[in-house]
Amino acid sequence: MFSYRHAFHAGNHADVLKHTILVHLLAHFEQKETPFWVIDTHAGAGVYSLEGEWATKRGEFAEGIGRLWDRTDAPPAVAAYLEAVRALNPDGRMRRYPGSPFIALARLRDRDRLRLFELHGNESEALANNIREAGRDAQRRTIVYADDGFAALKALLPPPPRRALVLIDPSYEDKRDYARVGVTLRDALTRFPTGCYAIWYPQVQRRESRELAFKLTRMRGVSWLHASLTVRDPSPDGLGLHGSGMFVVNPPWTLHASLQQSLPWLVKALGQDGGARYVLESAG
Ligand code: SAM
Repeated sequence: MFSYRHAFHAGNHADVLKHTILVHLLAHFEQKETPFWVIDTHAGAGVYSLEGEWATKRGEFAEGIGRLWDRTDAPPAVAAYLEAVRALNPDGRMRRYPGSPFIALARLRDRDRLRLFELHGNESEALANNIREAGRDAQRRTIVYADDGFAALKALLPPPPRRALVLIDPSYEDKRDYARVGVTLRDALTRFPTGCYAIWYPQVQRRESRELAFKLTRMRGVSWLHASLTVRDPSPDGLGLHGSGMFVVNPPWTLHASLQQSLPWLVKALGQDGGARYVLESAG
């Protein structure tokens, strides 16, 4: 069993990029009356304490949400993301951070559904507890599977309403995750070609990480958008996360323009040295 716990990383610069895009995608899905599903193949615990030992030990959120918390000049997509985090902290102090399941739950309507996979026993238990504590409406809309999201996704595709956002957000602690992302995405697209798929990947000093981004952007026959946010030059010891990227298949047409505004702002707000930069490209 791998030891990855998202609590160490919750609210870091990678979560800022991922969740800014997630909020934009959810808002797009909400625009139509017809129901939709959100499927999160790697859900984590759902909610994280920023005051807890794990979060404060590494302090990663200080370089992510921490730098944005008091900003009032964010472009619309980042402002909508900040609103989602602030909604979980109604007293104005930054105490808790919503993971993707709770960002989704806050936007889902009565008719929409949330399907969550979390393989790690402690995390899936925490997630199930958090959903229970969120109340009856949250429970009615959500199913938590303590299962392998890569393998189990196919059983849910296509989802009954034929409208769905699939977030594939592995920890990549197991380097086979890089290959599994590609296989899972290709299989999902044969079952449900019109789904919107959002894939997160880390920028780390690892060949597999560079290859994944390269391979995804070589995909043909689908429409995609790729956004990455690098906050610093890679460290000399080769350790740590210097940035991350999101690859979205079948993105809403509004996403590119929205990120064109947001990414330069995020580079300034979250950049740690001269290596800070972004990439925004799309095809199809
Ligand atoms: N999506 C979450 C968010 O944005 O708040 C964060 C998820 S975290 C990056 C990745 C999670 O995937 C970890 O909690 C880990 O335990 C879990 N995990 C690892 N391998 C998995 C697998 N094969 N299937 C489902 N979950 C897995």
